[in-house]
Amino acid sequence: MLAAVPPPVTVRVPAKINLHLAVGPLRDDGYHDLVTVFHAVSLFDEVTVVASEAPGIEVHGEGVSEVPADETNLAWRAVQVLAEKADRDPDVRLVLRKGIPVSGGMAGGSADAAAALVGLSTLWKLDLTRDELSVLAAELGSDVTFALYGGTAVGTGRGEQIVPVLSRHTQHWVIALHRGGLSTPAVFRELDRLRGDSPPAERPVEPVLEALAGGDPRQLALSLGNDLQSAAVSMIPDLRRTLRAGVTAGALAGLVSGSGPTCAFLCSGAEAALDVATELAGVGVCRTVRIAHGPVPGARVVDHEPPA
Ligand code: ATP
Repeated sequence: MLAAVPPPVTVRVPAKINLHLAVGPLRDDGYHDLVTVFHAVSLFDEVTVVASEAPGIEVHGEGVSEVPADETNLAWRAVQVLAEKADRDPDVRLVLRKGIPVSGGMAGGSADAAAALVGLSTLWKLDLTRDELSVLAAELGSDVTFALYGGTAVGTGRGEQIVPVLSRHTQHWVIALHRGGLSTPAVFRELDRLRGDSPPAERPVEPVLEALAGGDPRQLALSLGNDLQSAAVSMIPDLRRTLRAGVTAGALAGLVSGSGPTCAFLCSGAEAALDVATELAGVGVCRTVRIAHGPVPGARVVDHEPPA
């Protein structure tokens, strides 16, 4: 008897912003130690995993021309890593629908890798816990682990060691997408260049954790900070105008997300976010704006039904 073909699995996975990003000095191995606070926001990619005799990957949606549709795609690498662990052939097709800006500092590629791990382990009924998947995630990239869990979390090491942070309150954000992207390694190199021989300035994480526990967006606004911002702004000076325009439009604070060039603006509530987004969209300092809230959960199966 032929084995039944399992129904496709669709996984939804969020983008991240960094509420706090402290970058340590350049290490001998070329990496930097990080202390960061990840915050998952409601911009999503969807990844569908389909059993197939013609394995491969297709990419749809925003910025597809910049996303590799071959074995170098991080989501496909996730399939290979899990297939190896399960001792199976990677006989699946991946369909990616991008809603997270590409090369925007929102970890879209890492999100897709996390979604592929969750989707494939569901399709193959591997019964792996998120903690077991996180071991594979850490092999794939420093932001993949967080995309599995979502929420708000402190990340250390290269960002792959995750401890969840209690933040019961929803925060409202306006996300300004830039026209081009920035390469993360190039932004780190620019930070090293700007720092020269000076040691990194202190950026303690405690104020942001206290503000998250309290839930008041005004207090949180005062504690946001990103060491990579000066490097991103140095590479794209127009970002200074974008950051200024968001605050002029009524945001409590704005910061570059991760390595940029996406900017995230914290607002006092949902209505304020709508006002800020409308005004920011009108002043022509970014490609487009989105409204988002956070925290939201990490990679989750949203559809796994046999066709009717
Ligand atoms: P980082 O996580 O390094 O901060 P980012 O969030 O700025 O990156 P991504 O959208 O993850 O940016 O893309 C970074 C690079 O990875 C791009 O050059 C892109 O071509 C490549 N890439 C590989 N796989 C994917 C994917 N599934 N989605 C988007 N980009 C991908």
